[in-house]
Amino acid sequence: MPFRYEPGELGPQEAEIAITHCGICRSDLHLISNDWGISQYPFIPGHEIVGAVTAVGSAVRSLHVDQRVGLGWQSNSCGECEWCIRGMENLCLAAEATCVHRNGGYADRVRANARFVIPVPASLDSEHAAPLLCGGITVYNPLRTHGINPSSRVGVVGIGGLGHLAIQFARVFGAEVTAFSTSAGKEEEARALGAHNFVNSRESKALKEVAGTQDFILSTVNADQDWGIFMQALRPTGTLCFVGVPPSPVSVHAFPLISGLRSISGNPTGSPYRLREMLDVAARHGVKAQTERFPMAKVNEAIEKVKKNKVRYRAVLAN
Ligand SMILES: [Zn+2]
Ligand SMILES: [Zn+2]
Repeated sequence: MPFRYEPGELGPQEAEIAITHCGICRSDLHLISNDWGISQYPFIPGHEIVGAVTAVGSAVRSLHVDQRVGLGWQSNSCGECEWCIRGMENLCLAAEATCVHRNGGYADRVRANARFVIPVPASLDSEHAAPLLCGGITVYNPLRTHGINPSSRVGVVGIGGLGHLAIQFARVFGAEVTAFSTSAGKEEEARALGAHNFVNSRESKALKEVAGTQDFILSTVNADQDWGIFMQALRPTGTLCFVGVPPSPVSVHAFPLISGLRSISGNPTGSPYRLREMLDVAARHGVKAQTERFPMAKVNEAIEKVKKNKVRYRAVLAN
């Protein structure tokens, strides 16, 4: 039985979206099983949403009915704090996530503050655009924040929902891209996505060979790794940046941090402005999520397939 709820009156700052597509992100799976202790049941996951605006609140001027839009991880922020004023709404302490204490996108409708509802460029089709709203911005934002450019050497750890987009964006920024994966079988796909180099991260010899070669390593994996060896792969001033969450605390020796001015960092999604920019870059440079489509009614089947890592690379539910 599908769950039904009555959303009440539309707030003056809100927009309502008729959902056509919603990607399945790893975070949805963590929220379904309440791994982070923040889920509220009955729970509607989903935060990689594309659809059409059906209604806007009385104060909304930026959107119109029938406009094709996207909605990602964040649905609201205070709009008044230092971070909101600086255009870094993703760092707002009062930020609201689309499917945490709100009803998300495995549904036919969703609502959000209109500032977080992003127009989708005409040349992006909805199925391939949906995963960009969380997966895409999650990897795009750190590449932008850390100034990746044609002189950069970028490593991407893990070739999955996030990693396959990170390789494409890093390539668009002109970087030399090295894909790190524990599946040797993914080399061909990694190169097809734009990676110049491939390192089998199961082989410690191969990892040692790339010591001191990377300016920026973006880890997209949810599994523990020997992070010390990735620290060694960094050039001086390099950064190891986490967007995937390994189960154990990250433990590295302080020496490479000190001696080479290296750092460890992370990144939470991106601001509405960066989302617009990222969709525009994807549209102009042909960055595209590889997707497998499931009807919304087959959501449980889709989730099982994602859990088994059988989807290349993003499952998208369609209404
Ligand atoms: Zn997500
Ligand atoms: Zn704020």
